[in-house]
Amino acid sequence: MIPVQFSDTGSNGRNYLEMVDMTKKYTDFYRAQSLGRLNLNFVWTPTDAATKKPTILKVPYSATDEGLIGNCDKCDRTELMTRILSHTPVSWNLPSYETVIAMLDDRRISVVGVAFRAAAEYTNVNGAWNRPIPTPSGPIYSSLITTPSLIPHEMGHSLLGFIDLYDFNSPAQDFTKGWDIMGTGSTGQQSDSFFAWHKWISAWFDDNQVDCITATGTTVHYLDDLDTPNTLNKMVVVRKNATTAIVAEVRTERVVIYRVLMDAWGGSGPIITNDATTFKVNPKVGDTVTESGVKFKILDCRGGGCTVEVTNPAA
Ligand SMILES: [Zn+2]
Repeated sequence: MIPVQFSDTGSNGRNYLEMVDMTKKYTDFYRAQSLGRLNLNFVWTPTDAATKKPTILKVPYSATDEGLIGNCDKCDRTELMTRILSHTPVSWNLPSYETVIAMLDDRRISVVGVAFRAAAEYTNVNGAWNRPIPTPSGPIYSSLITTPSLIPHEMGHSLLGFIDLYDFNSPAQDFTKGWDIMGTGSTGQQSDSFFAWHKWISAWFDDNQVDCITATGTTVHYLDDLDTPNTLNKMVVVRKNATTAIVAEVRTERVVIYRVLMDAWGGSGPIITNDATTFKVNPKVGDTVTESGVKFKILDCRGGGCTVEVTNPAA
């Protein structure tokens, strides 16, 4: 965690205690979301002898010129991040951390969050953000430049490899309809949670907690409350073809149904929640929701979970 100060912004150090509280909050958030399997440990820059606070990285340019105050759609954040990290001392040994955070906590700076991740799963993408960023202590493969509120979303990118679930064409539209912070942005809004799909691919629960349907016909599945740590079933996945899956999960007796497209990239709707299972609209017991031809009938809900009858028609 590197507090960054520009030539025209105040000292990040004055907010240090507030920031420590925030990192505790985000550690708790990720521990709960991962059902106890992800324990973050935020490490600050070495203590400054004069201030007794983490060393602030002072950079010789202004936040205004970098487009961090006010809006800036065309600013090259990868270039800015590369430049900021070029000022870090070798002794900080940045490549030894799983992700590096350049923290912009001056309140005059607009909400900014950009994650960088170089990883094997992005071989088909040619963005600057998915190449290692050179620093004096060596290249780093995972990092983010962010204001505090976007840390949970940006770490979803940088640490976990999740892609954006909001519409790049109209940023106000959240494809998850309130159920996943890769669509909603940050905690403090809507469900403040991640889809079961994200939790499954992160191994936050086990394969034997997933029912996978590949055959046509009707089957019945119990889905436990997603956010309760236990060994019960957490999701049912209907495999339509090599790149399309229809998923049902339950959040405290509320059934959520969505379509996953493995070949759609972030910003273009790789996961879209069914209109009948939004954060505000929920099916009742006895209702049937149809997604991409697959029918989900809610048979019963109690004790946090729901029993769902799934009918997978012939193609
Ligand atoms: Zn994002």
